[in-house]
Amino acid sequence: MKVTFLGAANTVTGSNYLITTENHNILLDCGQFQGSKEDEKLNYLPFAFDPSTIDFLILSHAHIDHSGRIPKLVKDGFKGKIYSTRATRDLDEILLKDSGHIHEMEAEWENRKRARAGLESIEPLFTSIDAERSLEYFEPVLYDQMIYINDNIRLKFSDAGHILGSSIVELWVREAEKETKLVFSGDLGMKNRPLLKDPSYIEEADYLIIESTYGNKIHENIGSRATRLVDVLLKTIRRGGTVVIPSFAVGRAQELIYELNKVYDGDERIKELLRVPVYIDSPMAISATEIFRKHADCFDAETREYILKGDNPLDFHNLHFTRSADESRALNMSDEPKIIISASGMCDAGRIKHHLKHNLWKKNSSIVFVGYQAAGTLGRIIKDGAKKVKIFGETIGIKAEIHSIEGFSGHADKDSLMNWLKGFKKLPKKIFVVHGEKESAAGFAQYIKDELNVAAIVPDMHDQFDLGYDEVVPFIQELPITQGQHQELNLQLNDISLLSTHILSLSKHVLGLKLTAEDYNKIKNQLIELEKGLFDLGMLLGDKDRNVSLEK
Ligand SMILES: [Zn+2]
Repeated sequence: MKVTFLGAANTVTGSNYLITTENHNILLDCGQFQGSKEDEKLNYLPFAFDPSTIDFLILSHAHIDHSGRIPKLVKDGFKGKIYSTRATRDLDEILLKDSGHIHEMEAEWENRKRARAGLESIEPLFTSIDAERSLEYFEPVLYDQMIYINDNIRLKFSDAGHILGSSIVELWVREAEKETKLVFSGDLGMKNRPLLKDPSYIEEADYLIIESTYGNKIHENIGSRATRLVDVLLKTIRRGGTVVIPSFAVGRAQELIYELNKVYDGDERIKELLRVPVYIDSPMAISATEIFRKHADCFDAETREYILKGDNPLDFHNLHFTRSADESRALNMSDEPKIIISASGMCDAGRIKHHLKHNLWKKNSSIVFVGYQAAGTLGRIIKDGAKKVKIFGETIGIKAEIHSIEGFSGHADKDSLMNWLKGFKKLPKKIFVVHGEKESAAGFAQYIKDELNVAAIVPDMHDQFDLGYDEVVPFIQELPITQGQHQELNLQLNDISLLSTHILSLSKHVLGLKLTAEDYNKIKNQLIELEKGLFDLGMLLGDKDRNVSLEK
């Protein structure tokens, strides 16, 4: 088995690794390069392999720097299957179509310039139609399911706690009767993030590919995050101002809704805030929130408890979603105090620019940054303390209060990455450190060597490694179930029986419920699916049980 690094090597974006086995070509991720103009040009180069020879793609999560070249891959001849979690597939439906739309607009703008200069026109990287087509290749699965791709390859996704649906990939490949296990960390989240579960620990691997976005940094304490946010909100509202929060549409916006919901639920002095409308002003954030609701099974224990108590953690009574551009514009017509959460997160595009134009010059308004602001973006310029900025060709003086609340970061820091590595019971023979700027990746590789005494390599673009294998393991074998496995199955069965008790208690009210035909059919379909699943499970356990009895 060979692995070739074709993106996110000594840089953060463009995640893309080619795995070549005796009989198959596998891709891990197929992301876009993002950032400088030079980086973005890389997206237009032909792939370093023939896409029609790729048997399947394993996708760690929906972020564009991991999935954003999938429509190009399909356009260039890929015919295989794309394995991802269900939530990743659903998020990619909006993210890839949106990306296609952006590429169309950019090509159109560029072509108008080129026409004036007498130059030939260019093609967009891909269109939203290409994006739509690529969705047909997805083969969505659930966390922790063992997926047997064929006799020689199997795969499992575990929760990476980075965004909804994000996963760590475990890949087992058998060649010449020998099995090698490769683990890809994907992007790893911080522990104790709102909504999401903590990253899963992995027990063993022969080889590991690990991210290092913050491989040489430690995040500030996240504990005071919600309190600081509420302080700014109250202060601004009391002086009659508007709070503008630039936020990434996927993930960050939903975390904010959740944090606010939790505050509203627990704090008496918040009554005041409850009267203030909160607007989520981004069509993409709205679709993303709907997908979050659809995949509530991915949430952490705290959030699940919320849901089981009957509270919707992604909704509260003063929360409003604005879809149309007219509704968005209307927000700036009224002077009533309000909270506006809008994209893009770094203020370089989208509706947020209008809200900044209308609020930056007002002394009683506040701008609150909750995410990373890359160098050169409008968000970074404001955050760094500029006295005036240009928006839509107009100079705007900055009189509003500017706040920055860190601690919402989506990536594990140096300590958390090391803590995750220490969860391995059997450490990998070799670790490849990727998805970090040069300094960050090199720093973390050195830290691994010092702390764990394991070979750690920072691969460069196009570097290829031949992975040896030495342990002989038959691929499909029947082994007696272990104590640990037995416990794990029982825990899950317990969960199911708890859930069914809860659902039964809800069903008391069914008779009086008013439902649309669609909702009724949804409930009915879920029940049919559950019944079928339980029936299959019974058959499977029954068959195995019969075998045991026969053997006796
Ligand atoms: Zn990511």
